[in-house]
Amino acid sequence: MAASGTRVPIVVPDFARTADKPIALSLWAKKAGQRVEEGARVVDLTCDKTDFEIPSPATGVLVDPSTDYNKELAVGDVVGWIDTAIAPWIWDPPAEHPSAVGRCTHCTALLFPGDFRCRNCAALV
Ligand SMILES: [Zn+2]
Repeated sequence: MAASGTRVPIVVPDFARTADKPIALSLWAKKAGQRVEEGARVVDLTCDKTDFEIPSPATGVLVDPSTDYNKELAVGDVVGWIDTAIAPWIWDPPAEHPSAVGRCTHCTALLFPGDFRCRNCAALV
């Protein structure tokens, strides 16, 4: 899990721990590739039968979410990343498709002005 300039880690915060009970992943509120706003719920952690909603540390796109729900987590562990470079509002279209306005959050196909469904996977965008 090497950090890069555009990836902000989602870490297990210290408030997720009660007493000495183990922390584990509970539920991702976003799927890989989905856009998430800073402060919006991105993942739930569970500890001692209590779920904690973890806010996104940045605005961007969820990448590499951990799916190991059985793993015991420690405070400070990274469970996923927010890539801020592919956020739609700082979108920089590829040179060969200068009119593209973003990428499908499901399949990453390019989107163009007026598209309301992805041309590749037909997902609503
Ligand atoms: Zn698509």
